[in-house]
Amino acid sequence: RTVYVNGEYLPEADAKISIFDRGFLMADGVYEVTSVLDGKLLDFAGHSKRLARSLGELDMALPIEMDDLLEVHRELVRLNDINEGMIYLQVTRGAPSDRDFAFPDPDETPSTIVLFTQNKPGLADTPVAKKGIKVISIEDIRWGRRDIKTIQLLYPSMGKMMAKKAGVDDAWMVEDGMVTEGTSNNAYIVKNGKIITRHLGTEILAGITRNAVLRFAEEAQMTVEERSFTIAEAQDADEAFVTSASTFVMPVVEIDGAQVGAGVPGPVAVRLREIYLEESRKAAI
Ligand code: PLP
Repeated sequence: RTVYVNGEYLPEADAKISIFDRGFLMADGVYEVTSVLDGKLLDFAGHSKRLARSLGELDMALPIEMDDLLEVHRELVRLNDINEGMIYLQVTRGAPSDRDFAFPDPDETPSTIVLFTQNKPGLADTPVAKKGIKVISIEDIRWGRRDIKTIQLLYPSMGKMMAKKAGVDDAWMVEDGMVTEGTSNNAYIVKNGKIITRHLGTEILAGITRNAVLRFAEEAQMTVEERSFTIAEAQDADEAFVTSASTFVMPVVEIDGAQVGAGVPGPVAVRLREIYLEESRKAAI
């Protein structure tokens, strides 16, 4: 693979980051994952906008012009011959000369930027979407600024492992009795034709896919209600699904051992996946 590190395109084996990098020592960084279909980027504008917001919330600078980011993404797609897959981008607060809790002076310590590709042939047509996934619920014990897309992913990783151990695919996190989101996706239920998903706030990440899917749903005259819901309500729903840049719209067919609806992907989730893929492909750049 050819990767991008601080202005250079390099073979992955030659890419180097300092051991003092605050991303490595303190998870002091933010990231974005942009999907590639037909060799083109999905919703690049949405991802760059959220990146700018995450950086702003943490007083971190982007070490490259925002306008040049698109070109770096495109060049990596070209160099690695990606037809379907993802581009991972990470910016950290850089590598000061020693470990210190206080932020370094940004004039002396430029932030670090890294991008790499993940080749995933068959991503859009995955058989998993035809079967749906199963989830368990776990307590949401993450920090309080989940609206910032930071690289602190230890608890979501632990959640994935808890799911694996339970023999299922993913976990939905619950705080004060209400579902926040999945380990790496936004959570939805469908009841009597109405799409219900948690309202935005500091408790969840504003998914780029969520934004697009809700827009497409409204354009297709579907009703959307943005509010929180419980696991019991989800188990009793007609359908459930999750959205993320890398899974698009993914049906959920079981929650904590209880079958959702008929236990197969529901018509709303299937339809939204089709619309999302079709419209995103059309708008890809
Ligand atoms: N929520 C969390 C916690 C995530 O990590 C992600 C994606 O990684 C999402 C939601 C979905 O966001 P997006 O649709 O922008 O991929």
